[in-house]
Amino acid sequence: MTTSETTSEDGEGPRNFLEVAVAEDLAAGRAPNGVVTRFPPEPNGYLHVGHAKAICVDFGIAARFGGACNLRFDDTNPTKEEAEYVEAIMEDIRWLGFDWGERLYYASGFFEELYGFAVELIEKGLAYVCDLSAEETREYRGTVTEPGRDSPYRERSVEENLDLFARMRAGEFPDGTRTLRAKIDMAAPNLNLRDPVLYRILHAHHHRTGDDWCIYPMYDWAHGQCDALEGVTHSLCTLEFENHRPLYDWFLANITAPSTPRQIEFARLAVNFTITSKRKLLRLVEEGHVGGWDDPRMPTLRGMRRRGYTPEAIRAFCDTVGVTKFNARIDMVVLENHLRDDLNRRAERRMAVLRPLKVVITNFPEGETEMRAAVNNPEDESAGSREVPLTREVWIERDDFREEAPRKFFRLAPGREVRLRYAYYVKCDEVVKDASGEVVELRCTYDPESGDGTPPDGRKVKGILHWVSAEHAFEADVKLYDHLFAVPEPEVVPEGADFFDNMNPGSLEVLTGCKLEPSLRDAVPGSTYQFERVGYFHADPVESKPGAPAFHRTVSLRDTWAKIEKRQAAAAPTKR
Ligand code: ATP
Ligand code: MG
Repeated sequence: MTTSETTSEDGEGPRNFLEVAVAEDLAAGRAPNGVVTRFPPEPNGYLHVGHAKAICVDFGIAARFGGACNLRFDDTNPTKEEAEYVEAIMEDIRWLGFDWGERLYYASGFFEELYGFAVELIEKGLAYVCDLSAEETREYRGTVTEPGRDSPYRERSVEENLDLFARMRAGEFPDGTRTLRAKIDMAAPNLNLRDPVLYRILHAHHHRTGDDWCIYPMYDWAHGQCDALEGVTHSLCTLEFENHRPLYDWFLANITAPSTPRQIEFARLAVNFTITSKRKLLRLVEEGHVGGWDDPRMPTLRGMRRRGYTPEAIRAFCDTVGVTKFNARIDMVVLENHLRDDLNRRAERRMAVLRPLKVVITNFPEGETEMRAAVNNPEDESAGSREVPLTREVWIERDDFREEAPRKFFRLAPGREVRLRYAYYVKCDEVVKDASGEVVELRCTYDPESGDGTPPDGRKVKGILHWVSAEHAFEADVKLYDHLFAVPEPEVVPEGADFFDNMNPGSLEVLTGCKLEPSLRDAVPGSTYQFERVGYFHADPVESKPGAPAFHRTVSLRDTWAKIEKRQAAAAPTKR
């Protein structure tokens, strides 16, 4: 197949079953005006990483086939939806890098058309007004193993139904007293086809239609018809809608449908150590387990953005995950590795000591400051270099010193020599302890001829440590974030327990008195740096103040010494 209609924009063949289906439809002339998809969020919460996947799929497929993607707010439920979420969702989609242009729709913008389709069904004898209560309706519905029973109101005449439905709309009846139901089959094996409710009475204010309506369409009734009204050709959705498809197809077959979208389902994204349920995320926020929707530990796009995630990393992750027909959990590491790859390319390097230990370079002139050139980003020459001040007293990481060091510990220990990054070789001559025996200072000497890393005698050191001048350090607290949940599948809880029980009590650690390179004082809120050998850190756009950036860790570097040791210990437990 070489026609431009069947291949995607980039000339590559289809990469997954969705693209295969779309390519086939195009080849068969089933979408003569091009591919149209849609992303249909319900504005009852903030977008999360799972939505990011749906957005990448919906906008991605449209882009690949030269089509368009609509943004449609599925705002059929007036009581749970708020305008605040609408704005936030639009902002988050743009941030992720997608644009719907003029193609913005609201299900509520189609309320009149949906009403018209319902009247059409009534006229065809395919819908009826039912007076059963919500509870009775449930009882009559039957179960998976038992067929349902016909409602006593099922055989109302078309005239009576038309009259009652008009009066429902006119506000004559109280909430919950009547519904409009499709007349399909109360014995259908698929429960969705057992005379589903299309409209319920709800005297509630809607964020867009105000008090115009006191009957509201059910999601199932609105969804497919909105797709058809918008001219959506491919309605891509998650697997839980698979057994709703026969119902959507029934609706479209029985109304004068403006177009017939094709629904194709794909698996939801779940990432371990976190949750992707809006309802549960809402509880985390409302019950105060996190600081808000934008808490940097939240899997929401706002939280991830504040954490320091880049849209590029999230998109690359969604691309890697791909689309499948099976719900599966993806390891958080996959997401984090995409972030590391992206930040490695773009983040400037700085030196920062999180758990400081003082080093006095005894042969370095007192009161003197020597400026040392430091490379900003070895991955990007255009990032240039900066100067960092070196003085007689510097801070190094407590972890970088061991009084009794194993042979392969290539850092500082009594009598051993290392290089200070961008500066000299230093040798540890003396360990100073306080009364309790804790190491409080190292006294070292430096080799003034080792400034370029190659002393005249050619001796080499394996360890290169980051450091910060004690005199010039910018002292600050730094937050370390870890997984919000302590277990890979937080939703899986024993009877009677709550998913809150699985929260990680150590998901936030505040380190006080960290010593940062002085240039970090001017960090712009929202910027990310690699603190060399420590991780990627983000100047929190919410908590930073002018001249006082508040840093938190976005993601660690791949391997820390502690992790390597832990892994080695686990691999060879007998050696301990
Ligand atoms: P709700 O239970 O409130 O409907 P939802 O997560 O389905 O929650 P929607 O606002 O309806 O939220 O979702 C918008 C779109 O995003 C839907 O098409 C839905 O299928 C998709 N989506 C939601 N969660 C995920 C997920 N974890 N992975 C992939 N797609 C998702
Ligand atoms: Mg949904």
